Amino acid sequence: MRAYVEKDSCIGCGVCEACAPDVFEMQSDGKAEAVADTTDENKDAVQEAIDSCPASAIREEE
Ligand code: SF4
Repeated sequence: MRAYVEKDSCIGCGVCEACAPDVFEMQSDGKAEAVADTTDENKDAVQEAIDSCPASAIREEE
């Protein structure tokens, strides 16, 4: 599984990075990006980020 941030929707709040810092990183454009795959170790944190994103900007794909 791999998370993706829809850049057009992201408002740059940083919540996803706070939830799962090994997966989400804020970029110089002020938007978040997923920089790592979802693993057994981080999947709960990734799900928390998805659920917490105020813009519903995070998707997960196979
Ligand atoms: S939580 Fe959502 S809106 Fe906030 S930085 Fe992450 S992807 Fe963007």
